Amino acid sequence: MWAQTIETSKVLPSTIHKVSKIFQPINIIPKAGHVKTALTSKSQRLMLDLGIIRQASPGSFHFLPLGVRALEKLTLLVDKQMSKIGAQKVIFPSLTNSNLWKSTGRLQDFGAELFTLKDRHDHIYVLSPTHEEAVADLIASVSQMSYKEFPLKLYQTTNKYRDEIKPRFGLMRGRQFIMKDLYSFDVDIEKAKETYAEVCECYNSIFNEIGVDYIKVVGSCGAMGGSLSHEYHYKADIGEDKIVSCSRCGFNANAELAGYDKCSQCGASDSITVHAGIEVGHTFLLGDKYSKALNANYLTEKGKSVPLQMGSYGLGITRILAAAIEFLAKENEIRWPISFAPYTLIIIPPKKGSKEEEVGSYLVQRVHSALESIDSLKDNMLLDDRIQMTIGRRMVDARRVGYPYVIVIGAKSMEKNPIFELHNLTNDQVLYLNEEGLLVYL
Ligand code: ATP
Ligand code: MG
Ligand code: MG
Ligand code: MG
Repeated sequence: MWAQTIETSKVLPSTIHKVSKIFQPINIIPKAGHVKTALTSKSQRLMLDLGIIRQASPGSFHFLPLGVRALEKLTLLVDKQMSKIGAQKVIFPSLTNSNLWKSTGRLQDFGAELFTLKDRHDHIYVLSPTHEEAVADLIASVSQMSYKEFPLKLYQTTNKYRDEIKPRFGLMRGRQFIMKDLYSFDVDIEKAKETYAEVCECYNSIFNEIGVDYIKVVGSCGAMGGSLSHEYHYKADIGEDKIVSCSRCGFNANAELAGYDKCSQCGASDSITVHAGIEVGHTFLLGDKYSKALNANYLTEKGKSVPLQMGSYGLGITRILAAAIEFLAKENEIRWPISFAPYTLIIIPPKKGSKEEEVGSYLVQRVHSALESIDSLKDNMLLDDRIQMTIGRRMVDARRVGYPYVIVIGAKSMEKNPIFELHNLTNDQVLYLNEEGLLVYL
């Protein structure tokens, strides 16, 4: 019976991604002369060890193919949410003129964290750590913008540069990292507050869709300025921020702002808990600090030129990747949120030379084409084609990289109605399902 079906299967096009073709250097010991990495967190160790990223110099990283897939998925998830609130994607230059930073006072305020450089004409540029100046200057350069053109929301997902005093924890505190930064412009403070609330709602949706437990807290405006700010945190022991929560009134704040004594909202002193958090997002209601300094104005109905009210909203894209792993991973095995796992599923066929080998390769085709009908799996499945290795050895690797689902084709799959072993790594369950069962479950 198998002989005929196997013959037919040979003509099926094979579009499945293969493990053997992925550039995934899996040892973290660098060659002589290359930078040795100090390991400071679990996510950093796992991402380096499993070939997701590789360190280039302290705080800057190569993203390898699996890392890029995760990054692109997260970026797409954020893009979809941004378009729901009418935000338009742009790209601001990384090099910004230092005169802009002088005008707002931040050439001073940012201090040693600012990377600056001189061009051949001795003009000083900033390698931008954020883009409030750049976007305000862009708006200022557009003359006669009418009140009718607002609210306006512009965002980008690009590299940011900060000369961090202690780059560490891998992607979590880099000197070059990817941020999604959104800037909003409104005609008055009331409208700006409405936009702020709308973006915070959007951020809640983004963090819910990512699927890692988060906490939103009141944050300090710090050197950014403005009147209101919130931070989004993942709880993890290595987090460098302290979050203060009051169980009496539900108030959550960064300790930087609220202190540890009593609750700064309800005044209770016996209901405070403190935990470490990793800051993954930050929103600011900025007011007119940047628009005033850089003349980002609009024309009112009566033709008067008035500074715009701004908001600024950052998401640490590369930090979210690492922080999610920090939160979800086991000691020696990555766990990804399903929303941005590099591949959702991996198929492990029988070993070369085993009696199941031939039927196994037919079943790979069959199960792969059946599962491609599921939208979330299309172009999201991987085949561990290293068939010279035992199933057990490849299973160890699949668990370490943490593909959410692993399908093993083994002895049980040789029946007339083949049974597949499905490992769900997100809840540690193993199920034995036939093809229809897989389609229902996945
Ligand atoms: P931190 O307090 O951790 O230094 P920040 O408050 O200076 O962060 P923001 O200026 O609020 O950071 O930037 C917006 C987001 O960019 C942060 O919420 C964080 O997710 C991310 N981010 C900031 N600095 C880094 C960094 N060095 N490496 C990776 N991501 C970063
Ligand atoms: Mg900082
Ligand atoms: Mg901070
Ligand atoms: Mg911040």
